[in-house]
Amino acid sequence: MTQLFKNYLWHSELFNCQSNDLTQFEQYLSAQVTRLNMQVKPLGFIDDHQQYPLSLYQTVHVNPDNPSILVCAGFHGEESAGPWGLISALTQLDPRILEKINLSILPLVNPSGFSIGNRLNLFQQNPNRGFVYQSGQVVSNSHTSVEGLILQQSMARLLTASEHGILTCHEDVLLHDTYLYALESHALPSPLSYQLRDSLGRYFPIADDGEIDECPVKEGIIFNHFDSSFESALFQSGSQIAICTETPGQQAFDQRVLANRDAISLFINHFVNNHRQ
Ligand SMILES: [Zn+2]
Repeated sequence: MTQLFKNYLWHSELFNCQSNDLTQFEQYLSAQVTRLNMQVKPLGFIDDHQQYPLSLYQTVHVNPDNPSILVCAGFHGEESAGPWGLISALTQLDPRILEKINLSILPLVNPSGFSIGNRLNLFQQNPNRGFVYQSGQVVSNSHTSVEGLILQQSMARLLTASEHGILTCHEDVLLHDTYLYALESHALPSPLSYQLRDSLGRYFPIADDGEIDECPVKEGIIFNHFDSSFESALFQSGSQIAICTETPGQQAFDQRVLANRDAISLFINHFVNNHRQ
């Protein structure tokens, strides 16, 4: 099959491997979910040979009084600093924090794309399209990927997991600047959105006001842009806030990993701190 997008690979000094090293990634992930006592919930396989699993990980003891948040990465296979940044954030995470939040993670939604550094999955589908919010439900369309169908089969569980917020870590491989998408039920972005932008801004220039992918960006934020993405569908289904960060693929790989680590840690700590109030 002819590839529609270029493959992107980088070397990570932090992890001492290539950005597409799925075996290393799974080993690091396994060590962290064991340390944090998170439970794996297999959602399905991308391929018939069961080479590429799609799994959700959740804190074992769900406390109904705690906020429930979902952190996702790796929808697009070339945006590999997201999944590695999540590993870094988990490595830093104090297990006691998980007594204060119900944390769920989708660490690598598109493993087949990740394994070759390509945006699309092995069927040349875009895993972050085809989540159509319609009459109170998320349904598929002709653009829905295999990953999308698997996630849609588990939508009730994912919606519970993301009730108080969802963060999804993307990258923009063409840019030197950083920005984020924020979906919120207010007229303006909340302090959390600005804090996340500033966290990314410690590593990279924040994108100038203007347009990115035909969306208006102001002060580094694309606000309340609705499309058929996973985060958009979850927000429309009731998740209280949805943030999609975009680190710049034209910058050094490990800097992008660290920027993702910091954004994920900030997002998690925001809900821990809110819980304390
Ligand atoms: Zn992306």
